[in-house]
Amino acid sequence: MGFRRTDRLSDLVKLKALILVTCCACNHQAWFSPADTLQFMGADMDLGALPFRCSRCSSGAVKVSADPKSLLDGTGGGPNGPRKPEPL
Ligand SMILES: [Zn+2]
Repeated sequence: MGFRRTDRLSDLVKLKALILVTCCACNHQAWFSPADTLQFMGADMDLGALPFRCSRCSSGAVKVSADPKSLLDGTGGGPNGPRKPEPL
């Protein structure tokens, strides 16, 4: 029925989808490559467990999800392209 798991980094790598991070404080959005993030973290992780932080307002209150657009077309290219993950 088209159900696909999208909770872990490895799921998004398989689906060629990007990680979409939305800041709960200022609504800033950023896209990250799951392959780069996997390498950066050194382990497969749940998206919700990733220590992302807003690059605009430095808030740690962010929502991490699979980017719906790249999930659909499987191109792995967000509006601004994949970015490197940022450490805390
Ligand atoms: Zn923010």
